Amino acid sequence: MDHVTGVVVGVDIGNSTTEVCVARIASDGSIDFFGSALTPTTGVKGTIKNSKGVVEAVCRSLRDARIPLSEVEAVLVNEATPVISGLAMETITETIITESTMIGHDPRTPSGCGLGMGVTTRVDDLDEVAVDAAVVVVVPAGRDFEDTAASIRAAQARGVDVQAAILCSDDAVLVTNRLLHSIPVVDEVSRIEAVPVGMLAAVEVAAPGRNIRTLSNAYGLATLFDLDPDETRMVSPVARALTGNRSAVVVRTPAGDVTDRSIPAGSLELIGEKKRITIDVGTGADAIMEAVNRVAPLSDAIGESGTNAGGMIANVRHSMAELSNQSTDDVHIRDLLAVDTTIPQEVRGGLAGEVALENAVALAAMVRTKDSGMQQVADAIQRNLTDVGGENLRVIIGGVEAEMATRGALTTPGTDKPLVVLDLGGGSTDAALIEMSGDITATHMAGAGDLVTKLISSELGIDNIEVAEEIKRCPLAKAESFYHIRLEDGTVQFFTKPLPTNTFARVVTLSESGLEPIATRHSLDKIRDVRRSAKHRVFVVNALRSLATVSPNRDLRQVGFVVLLGGCALDFEIPDMIADALAPYGIVCGTGNVRGTEGPRNAVASGLIAGHVESFRSEALTVPEAANA
Ligand code: ADP
Ligand code: MG
Repeated sequence: MDHVTGVVVGVDIGNSTTEVCVARIASDGSIDFFGSALTPTTGVKGTIKNSKGVVEAVCRSLRDARIPLSEVEAVLVNEATPVISGLAMETITETIITESTMIGHDPRTPSGCGLGMGVTTRVDDLDEVAVDAAVVVVVPAGRDFEDTAASIRAAQARGVDVQAAILCSDDAVLVTNRLLHSIPVVDEVSRIEAVPVGMLAAVEVAAPGRNIRTLSNAYGLATLFDLDPDETRMVSPVARALTGNRSAVVVRTPAGDVTDRSIPAGSLELIGEKKRITIDVGTGADAIMEAVNRVAPLSDAIGESGTNAGGMIANVRHSMAELSNQSTDDVHIRDLLAVDTTIPQEVRGGLAGEVALENAVALAAMVRTKDSGMQQVADAIQRNLTDVGGENLRVIIGGVEAEMATRGALTTPGTDKPLVVLDLGGGSTDAALIEMSGDITATHMAGAGDLVTKLISSELGIDNIEVAEEIKRCPLAKAESFYHIRLEDGTVQFFTKPLPTNTFARVVTLSESGLEPIATRHSLDKIRDVRRSAKHRVFVVNALRSLATVSPNRDLRQVGFVVLLGGCALDFEIPDMIADALAPYGIVCGTGNVRGTEGPRNAVASGLIAGHVESFRSEALTVPEAANA
């Protein structure tokens, strides 16, 4: 191309989003931006499948700008850094009940209130129990609640001290309503047949809105069951596992036990350019991240084969190789982010589907593949755009991503060099520093928005990733009546029309489409805590890590401005969390506003167009100079 005037389109293909913008360049080199568009990236970044999304976004932005495709001279795509990210998660602890000793679940409707203690006795055997004996009645499946209540009443009339009951069915309230005086009743115990009979047991039910206090306290158990210090040590995992429940049963069996087992997680070998460190995954995220930091820059990581760590790393490597169509030998792990997490998992050996929060480590890995194959993508875009009428255009691969991003970020009003761009994307957190001299240093860190969503979904036990995404993006509220909700900051919002019935008494997200109820029994506060802490564990950690990597002498004080870009810079709380973390370094940090209009979007696409014009300018300058020499 021998002139620079005309319509050009800048395209940024990200892991999650493809962004484009359209501009007309005048003969004096001034740029007039017309419009922009974004669409989800089709296929893995850097593969020809991207073309579909690019064509769609290009056509959409041109339509909005009312410019026919035939007028476009050039489509500029970035030389995408060949980095992609993967995620894996492994539990490192497991709770196992051997010989049933514990039922600690949260049936929706336990009944009665208080603590009862006695010998476990089948409801059918109540007739044979001695007068004055203290019993806990065990009621099998299929037993009618009228019958059950009648048997208990008869026993009580005879003088048997019925202290509590354990039911298989969901009838606790129905049974207690038919008794002369209320006893604690735990229901929905699915494996009732496994409850040992003839053993001393304690049943505790807390009042609505409260948690049990005695069975979740190791010394409470010791007091009830007369345990010595060694035995108390043995049962302390029982107490921990029952914490936070509204009701629980503990049966003392001679050999019964609950154990917290740590699953041998295996080790990671981190291969740095100068050092190698082997670290046990079971030591947790902090220790792993310290090791990653010590070997930096990382050139690869290997997990011990035959262990969870080995499996995790192999999975990431394998799926990345598959996605990018390369051999696993060409896939190298260049960054790792380890995050401590918990996963609610059914207790092995439990009687009522009990769930324990198991410890886990989540790993996000950034892999660098052999080459970007961008030319193929450009060719595909050229073909597909020509097919729909772009007969005069050329697709040009231009500019390094980091350079374009900083150029775009600098169009944010109020910014200046030295400046760091923090691009908070889906798979990775990318940072680039532009110094006063114009020199650029860039880094790509594993872990970003997708990891936050994954942590939210696994920690809250929500298997629907769209729901988790919604929880990540939207503030919460609770519908307290048909006409008002309480927002998570404690304020109340009133409505003149009744709220949808499906939201009543539920925790909801304030989504764009209105109030969305969340299908979970977690409280608003719990959901909020998980959401905020997941964002903190990923983005605050990565912001500090990436800033240290690009800062001169790893000194954050030398950075003047930090501009947040990317989808997660649109989040309602992530930018504030990062700004708070950076405040001590005297850094100006805020969400970018590219070209003063685009918010944190479109930096690379806009930067590509500016870079395109600049490259012509500098050519115009250098050519005559060369001729003079
Ligand atoms: P990439 O550059 O990797 O293609 P993006 O910059 O599009 O990625 O960022 C994608 C991430 O941004 C996803 O994790 C997504 O959940 C998040 N995201 C997108 N829009 C919003 C929003 N409005 N609020 C919060 N997060 C958002
Ligand atoms: Mg991006």
